[in-house]
Amino acid sequence: MADLNDDEILRLYLDEKLDGEDMAKVEKRLRQEPGLLERLDQIRTEQIDPAVHSVGMAWISGRLTCPARSEWTRHFSGVLEKTRSEYLNFHLEVVECPFCQANATDLRQRESRRKDSSSSMADRSARAAGWLKSD
Ligand SMILES: [Zn+2]
Repeated sequence: MADLNDDEILRLYLDEKLDGEDMAKVEKRLRQEPGLLERLDQIRTEQIDPAVHSVGMAWISGRLTCPARSEWTRHFSGVLEKTRSEYLNFHLEVVECPFCQANATDLRQRESRRKDSSSSMADRSARAAGWLKSD
């Protein structure tokens, strides 16, 4: 997509004719470049075909492409279906969605707190409270 200008890229994006990686690149740029987002909206309204209600616009209006928090939980527990899990990784690492990154960080912290409290932390606090001998 290096040969295309922004308008061409945005048209392909609206038509969902880019592959996943390029879609992600455009989404990333749209988050960072308000001018590009404005241009996208212009192109969209110029388009005659009313059937163009793409994933891109859905994302813009409501971040509908973001996986639910429950999915992220299953993803980190390793129980999510493989292809879906790959999409979640992609969403996090390639799209670098700030909303889901925040969510993921939070979930990871919870997970490590849970692990801590079930092992060494519990021992340490028990020792501190004098319930266990520390020798
Ligand atoms: Zn997201």
